[in-house]
Amino acid sequence: MKRTILLKYGEIILKGANRRAFEKQLADSIRRRLKGLIGEYELEYMQSTVYVTPERDEDVEIAHDALSRIFGIVSLCIAYRAEKSMEEIMRVALEYIPPHLEGYRSFKADARRSDKTFPYTTPQIMMEVGGELSEKCPDIAVDVINPEITVMIEVREKYAFIHAGKTMGAGGLPYGTGGRGLLLLSGGIDSPVAGWMMAKRGVEVDALHFESFPYTSERALEKVKTLAGKLCRYTDKMHFNKVSLTEIQEAIRDNCEYDYFTLILRRFMMEIADEVARRVNANALITGESIGQVASQTMQALAVTDCVPTIPVFRPLIGMDKEEIVQIARRIDTFATSIEPYEDCCTVFTPPHPRTRPVLEKVIRAEEGLDRKALIENALKTLEHQVIYNEAF
Ligand code: ATP
Ligand code: MG
Repeated sequence: MKRTILLKYGEIILKGANRRAFEKQLADSIRRRLKGLIGEYELEYMQSTVYVTPERDEDVEIAHDALSRIFGIVSLCIAYRAEKSMEEIMRVALEYIPPHLEGYRSFKADARRSDKTFPYTTPQIMMEVGGELSEKCPDIAVDVINPEITVMIEVREKYAFIHAGKTMGAGGLPYGTGGRGLLLLSGGIDSPVAGWMMAKRGVEVDALHFESFPYTSERALEKVKTLAGKLCRYTDKMHFNKVSLTEIQEAIRDNCEYDYFTLILRRFMMEIADEVARRVNANALITGESIGQVASQTMQALAVTDCVPTIPVFRPLIGMDKEEIVQIARRIDTFATSIEPYEDCCTVFTPPHPRTRPVLEKVIRAEEGLDRKALIENALKTLEHQVIYNEAF
């Protein structure tokens, strides 16, 4: 008996003619994720399910955990693989399924049969296996309407698969099927979540971080790279770009009206990000902004920064409450890192009373003392790139 991980696709099913390409991306993601992590394995896909069967049984749990973070998979479970005879199915079900039923009060057996030559009908398989299991496990009742757990017997082309209970997958669409976006990644709670949400929709996410050394520290930068590494648990790798804003921030401090500091800085960030996106072939910017969260995220303030870039800015958190964002941050394991107390460039020289309803013309006037072009050119000279990998394993 071998164990197989069954991964059920989500929305790829809807993709009609593109389905093949999506399936290929999904298989590529799975191969990338398992490479170097486990030993030999078989990979097959059919009928909206991917079957991953590790050669070594001890690799099953490791693979299951890693594959729970593959976008495009809605649910996954570990199944026992049996030869296709009723005797074998029954033997495997009775030997391996009872421990999975412990702690539950009711179950039902369900069956699916894609091999129509199998000499038992689906109701027969359900009745036979369900009946025997119920005899073997007298503490759990059969409830075919509303069971707490379902034992599934799937009779497929080569084998039968038997499993009980499934876990949620990462959802979304296969990574890399949705174009490329450039995530403005800070060390905060929001931007890693924003990047994750776009990655979940299949967008390949590159990161751009602004530092402001010596006002921001080496440790603040390390924290951001740690966050990028956490996202790589889902994406496998991430192109990480870094630009220094020090000269720009000092120029703003020395030449501009105090209340406009943050807005002017954010307009610079957008313009630089737009140019970096052009260089790395990204078609959109991604930020962790949420309406009304801080002064620079009012509708008027967003309008003042949104008119700078030439490509769309995606803000997947725009309508979310902090608490909802935190929930996702915990789920994707970025929260604990995000709350480490290191400074961000946006918190250097921040005015105590920033403008919450800025008028574009006034902001542009407040920028007049700056040589924007030269400052941006200089900042872009500080651009550095590195690739960050999934180091969870
Ligand atoms: P976060 O928790 O993501 O830091 P925030 O609520 O603290 O967000 P701001 O500091 O105003 O909000 O930043 C808004 C957005 O601007 C961030 O979500 C992020 O996309 C981007 N951003 C902020 N600081 C930086 C930075 N140092 N480098 C790159 N992008 C940044
Ligand atoms: Mg921040």
